[in-house]
Amino acid sequence: MEKTKLELELEAKNHEEKAKELRKQAADLHHAELKAKSIAERLVYAAHSRCPCGAGLAYDPCFEDENSVFVGPLSGYWDCSAILLGEANKDVQHTGQLPFAFHEILSEQQPSAMGATTRKVD
Ligand SMILES: [Zn+2]
Repeated sequence: MEKTKLELELEAKNHEEKAKELRKQAADLHHAELKAKSIAERLVYAAHSRCPCGAGLAYDPCFEDENSVFVGPLSGYWDCSAILLGEANKDVQHTGQLPFAFHEILSEQQPSAMGATTRKVD
């Protein structure tokens, strides 16, 4: 027997809810994998933007500020990678924290960065 329009819509709605749940599970798994790494391994660097001290700007993809008006990853900020790694020279000037909500900084992970990064070469 053919399904009615209502039955089809209900079925589609159920699939959408299942898909949403699966995407959340995948995101949680990704987050757990990131959290297991050290901060040096998980920092995401800017493609071109640097701190006045010369180190690349970076952010920790696991950081979420629960006190921010912005929810989840959007509550994060770009900062000097040397500061985030605890290797900053305190005698030179560094950038302040640059919240994602107010600063458009190209990440090394964006395809338009074409592989550019401010990551240190070891
Ligand atoms: Zn700096």
